[in-house]
Amino acid sequence: MSNIIQLLPDHVANQIAAGEVVQRPASVVKELMENAVDANATLVSLIIKEGGKTLIQVVDNGSGMTDTDARLSFERHATSKIKAAEDLFHLHTKGFRGEALASIAAVSHVDMKTKTEVEEVGTHLMVEGSHITQQEPCVTPIGTSISVKNLFFNIPARRNFLKSASVEHKHVIDEFQRVALVHPSVAFKFIHNDSELFNLPVANFRHRIVGVMGSKMNEKLVPVKEETDLIQLYGFVGKPEFAKKSRGEQFFFVNDRFIKHPYLHHAVSSAFEGLLKDKAYPTYFLYLQVNPESIDINIHPTKTEVKFDNEHAIYSILRSSVKHSLGQFNVSPVLDFNKDASMETGYDQHKLGAKIPSVVVDRNFNPFEAEYKFSSTFKLPSSKRNTPNPSWEALYTNLEGQDDDLLNIEVDSEQVSGSLFQGEHTQHKSSGTFQFQRKYIITSTKSEMLIIDQHRAHFRILYEELLRNITAKPALSQQLLFPLKLQLDTNEISVFKTLKESLTNAGFSISEIGEDFVKINGIPNRLPESETSILLDQLLSDFESDIPDSGFDQTDRLAKSLAQSMAIKNGAVLHKEEQTELVNLLFSCKEPMLTPLNRLVFVKQSASDFDKKFM
Ligand code: ADP
Ligand code: MG
Repeated sequence: MSNIIQLLPDHVANQIAAGEVVQRPASVVKELMENAVDANATLVSLIIKEGGKTLIQVVDNGSGMTDTDARLSFERHATSKIKAAEDLFHLHTKGFRGEALASIAAVSHVDMKTKTEVEEVGTHLMVEGSHITQQEPCVTPIGTSISVKNLFFNIPARRNFLKSASVEHKHVIDEFQRVALVHPSVAFKFIHNDSELFNLPVANFRHRIVGVMGSKMNEKLVPVKEETDLIQLYGFVGKPEFAKKSRGEQFFFVNDRFIKHPYLHHAVSSAFEGLLKDKAYPTYFLYLQVNPESIDINIHPTKTEVKFDNEHAIYSILRSSVKHSLGQFNVSPVLDFNKDASMETGYDQHKLGAKIPSVVVDRNFNPFEAEYKFSSTFKLPSSKRNTPNPSWEALYTNLEGQDDDLLNIEVDSEQVSGSLFQGEHTQHKSSGTFQFQRKYIITSTKSEMLIIDQHRAHFRILYEELLRNITAKPALSQQLLFPLKLQLDTNEISVFKTLKESLTNAGFSISEIGEDFVKINGIPNRLPESETSILLDQLLSDFESDIPDSGFDQTDRLAKSLAQSMAIKNGAVLHKEEQTELVNLLFSCKEPMLTPLNRLVFVKQSASDFDKKFM
């Protein structure tokens, strides 16, 4: 049999390498920006169109290249940054694998102009899918300008795989921020579709972080600093009360390189333990310097994963430094609003003797008023929310774990509620509902008992309500007496712009979108004004990682996000009337069984189920 193994032609090998290095426009941005930084540029401009799908251009004022180097730079394994294997242990540059330009050129149309300080004229080079189509002298300033067009023009499967321009744009912003955050001594500009998104002058770390993340970041930062034989640590963590519901603001840099490292991330998170509200992620910008010999950055072509020799030691240094900073800067623990106080009743409650049950009654309640008072009336004043309230519920809580069946039976009986709610409560007619564990509303039909999750029920009600509001033309909106000005970062502004139409449809009236703020002078009907900014914050972080393309999907996601954050929480005490109202509204919904995210809203137990238990 004849030999069958052949060497792959260069352009094929390059395309294969491109599969690893170039996943999307953002990968190109990263490589080109890092090359500019490696070339000692002091000003780097990034220009993109349509999220980088049509154009990615990086212009720098760095060293530039001679005509021979310019040509060579597109060869695979062509690099000026290392010469021998030992150099891998003393890296001071971002690049060293010599494959980025070759990979990019294999899957796009590249146009490069470059000139060194000593040469009279520069070089203009055009490359299409690994083939140099043009090389000629040209007039151009010192430095390099590279434009990448028609990414993946020769790999339709990949091109089709790209997300919408807004999603790709979001990824590009991420990469831009990662490079900009770690090189405050370099000035950066970012222009998208002809408008300037960032203009970052040379700065110190703190100013750079604020420049990149938006001015409201400044007050949130707590400095962290530590020097040991092993590492130098510098940077900032966000004050716990500002922690976000999305992971967007977590940055680790090791030897001037953005990295992802779940283990070290855990070190930081654990330093925040007990300080964060549920599901909030700490913000951090941490810069580590370690001996280049003690890390391996070569385990992945994009170099965002690194291996440390002394992971455990670094973990504990990181954790204790962050803890120390949080303590030193007097960042006090935030209260946990989500804790259910009734769960905290001690087992020895019975020793306290009987107490007169205390019942909270909303004296202003008027059943004939607008059907929606939920968002305001459902919330107890915050001071009350955390005080364990010795109520009759506690009597039942203590039974927990002893006999589940017994519990189920005691819950829904008009007799029980009737006798417990004597006094004040008699002014309202008992409605046949019962709140259990500040979480479930129990009610019954003729033959069945219904156990309703209060948060989920309200989520469903609000969702349908919002959708109705959105589809009503024009959407019902309440004008604000004073326009609301929200400070947003660049990322949030761009998400906001994409969502603008859906937000308007939903009843937001947006009077101005500035560089780092938006002004809102109308909000959807029944959205509590005081909570608008919190809701929008949550909304933007829900959409940050993935914005649906179509208008309908956007509207639907918008309604879901708003409804979910507006819905009463588990742990909130609901007055009798509110319970009844919740049940009535739920059953006038189109789909009362499921939440908009397809979770069960209630479960049923039939009388015959109980009969069986008593056999
Ligand atoms: P690497 O960065 O790993 O060396 P690249 O493919 O990214 O590999 O770049 C190849 C070479 O081209 C670099 O080593 C550098 O010498 C040169 N080069 C690339 N971009 C620039 C630039 N913007 N300015 C000057 N030289 C550059
Ligand atoms: Mg490179």
